[in-house]
Amino acid sequence: METTLTLAAWNERAAALRPVTQAFIEGRYHPAVSAETFPCINPATGGVLAEIASCAAPDVDLAVASARRAFESGAWSRMAPAARKRVLLNFAELLMEHREELALLETLDVGKPIADSLQVDIPGAARCIQWYAEACDKVYDEVAPVPDHTLALVTREPVGVVGAIVPWNFPLLMACWKLGPALATGNSVVLKPSEKSPLTAIRVAALALDAGLPPGVLNVLPGFGHTAGEALALHPDVDCVAFTGSTRIGKRMLEYSGRSNMKRVWPECGGKSPNIVFADAPDLDRVAEAAAAGIFFNQGEMCSAASRLVVHESVREALLEKICALGAAYRPGDPLDPATRLGALVDDQQLRTVTGYIDSAREEGARLCLGGDQVRRESGGYFVEPTVFDGVGPAMRVAQEEIFGPVLSVLSFRDEAEALAIANGVMYGLAAAVWTRDLATAHRMSRRIRAGTVYVNCYDADDITVPFGGVKQSGNGRDKSLHALDKYTELKTTWMDLR
Ligand code: NAD
Ligand code: MN
Repeated sequence: METTLTLAAWNERAAALRPVTQAFIEGRYHPAVSAETFPCINPATGGVLAEIASCAAPDVDLAVASARRAFESGAWSRMAPAARKRVLLNFAELLMEHREELALLETLDVGKPIADSLQVDIPGAARCIQWYAEACDKVYDEVAPVPDHTLALVTREPVGVVGAIVPWNFPLLMACWKLGPALATGNSVVLKPSEKSPLTAIRVAALALDAGLPPGVLNVLPGFGHTAGEALALHPDVDCVAFTGSTRIGKRMLEYSGRSNMKRVWPECGGKSPNIVFADAPDLDRVAEAAAAGIFFNQGEMCSAASRLVVHESVREALLEKICALGAAYRPGDPLDPATRLGALVDDQQLRTVTGYIDSAREEGARLCLGGDQVRRESGGYFVEPTVFDGVGPAMRVAQEEIFGPVLSVLSFRDEAEALAIANGVMYGLAAAVWTRDLATAHRMSRRIRAGTVYVNCYDADDITVPFGGVKQSGNGRDKSLHALDKYTELKTTWMDLR
């Protein structure tokens, strides 16, 4: 589905847009209890899009109570699976019907290209809800192989009230990675979107209600991490926190759990993924395209960004030349222009973080090959050029730390052992790629790289059917696939004596 809308048409729609700005509790929109608001910024202009309800502990109390009541009522948690499926399928259809509106909200809120919001974020979110909807009446429980006079049932029960705390880089998509499996298994959810990207989460709460989700099953609380987020993660009546965000805050989630009710915590955190290119890589043009897309797509604001190019010395120069040539296609542009492939960074703070890393690379002696500057200043927005540094040492900050911007660090290696040491020599373990013609090398490397996903001769292959998540300090949850159902269910063992 290509959009036929032009930049002018999108601008017209943007000017007419009146986003919903309030919290959604018990099936209705409410201002924050404190009546406080915070500004929602359009990072392409620096302008204020709306004033958003700033939720805090009192709102969390209301939302969790509403979620608990809904859960205990059984209206959703004990609804027949086929009926639950129907509601979630309706929800997925409504997301697609509102695809242009939601894509516009997403692009205005976070600065990502409208073509990506339309083709990746919103359809991906709808597909996720649809896929878990269909699982509702297809996943069976177990009967254990126990002695003849007994019967032991192993059943999955919803955990209860799920707190979902999500980031801003794919606002609706990350929310749906939680909502799909959590709702399909009968839980109630309190969703806290990032303060940098609240608009789509707020909007879709009403769509879920229209789809037939009972009031209280999905509550949405816009607000800051240290207010709404902390209160939700510390709440004694929340049974599970599904978190996607930074490693620093993911660690706090584990503390909140220990300080409160030992709720289960699923941290899905950052990455510094290596894209490893051997001398026998099948096709350097394809490698270059994947390497560029791997770091420039979504402004590099990707947990799984291919942020470290780890390349054999013999092909380094040729590959670097191709990647830098492709950089031209990612010249930062107006996110509402359908031709734009690289938009604005999410806010002023992220701009400063990214330019700070660019400065650190220069200071530590890396060689700038492409970009390196803030651009489009006249727009008032936060744009950075696609940037490539060669000659990066494994200990440099730009080789170790997640930048979350369009900045590629190029490291070179001489043999497989060195490539592996570089690949595993960071605290993260989210994704990795290996490019080689040699099947044995591909297998050996993919076994020894510590990462949740290894791509061979590709990067960022993606489908709802496969689990996604990390090891080490990239966290340990898995979103997507049937495995995600485990996060939102408890195993119940029921013994029956048949004598
Ligand atoms: P962040 O950790 O700053 O914030 C994530 C969420 O936590 C937001 O909703 C925020 O408001 C909330 N939060 C912040 N401080 C909090 C606190 N003290 N208590 C409770 N909640 C708090 O991360 P971000 O900047 O929004 O997102 C970027 C990060 O997300 C990157 O590190 C990226 O790699 C990661 N990410 C990971 C995945 C994955 O699947 N592993 C996917 C997307 C993004
Ligand atoms: Mn915003």
